[in-house]
Amino acid sequence: MADGPKTLLEAVEYFADEQNCIQYLATKRWPDGVAVCPTCGSTKVSFLANQKRWQCSARHPKRQFSIKVGTIMEDSPIGLDKWLPVLWLIANCRNGVSSWEIHRALGVTQKTAWFMLHRVRLAMQDAKKSGKLRGDVEVDESYIGGKARNMHKSRKLKALQDKGGGMLERSPFRESLNAAVTSALV
Ligand SMILES: [Zn+2]
Repeated sequence: MADGPKTLLEAVEYFADEQNCIQYLATKRWPDGVAVCPTCGSTKVSFLANQKRWQCSARHPKRQFSIKVGTIMEDSPIGLDKWLPVLWLIANCRNGVSSWEIHRALGVTQKTAWFMLHRVRLAMQDAKKSGKLRGDVEVDESYIGGKARNMHKSRKLKALQDKGGGMLERSPFRESLNAAVTSALV
């Protein structure tokens, strides 16, 4: 799947396979196909197929690393089969996505969904600061979860409807958002 999944259903099915997740992320992270040790920067690393981890040939702490190391997914017990559909949703839902929607769509708890959105939000803020996300783009908190979580259900539904797609229909925003979500991965 060179261009990635086209629908949420495709995303959920595709990313249910851990090998697909690892391959997808490795391609984004190392476009030239050469894995790099996140600790020492060496490219002398080998993939340990049965552990689904890489191992650096240099002797140093953390010489074994998974695809999550050095990304927003690091140190979280949440599987790639949840993280990747969430990132797909954020990049592809023109009306934005709330923790409540993720909870319903992917069957994770709302607390977990909120945690994932929070990490993405921080990564997007970093991307904005470092110029990866263009300056005219406001990362509206309601767009990626945040406040909607605390609203009463009926208000929340209305807020989700009211958000509309105007902001996201402008393609520079979509491009920036996709860039930010991609950069959030690594
Ligand atoms: Zn190393």
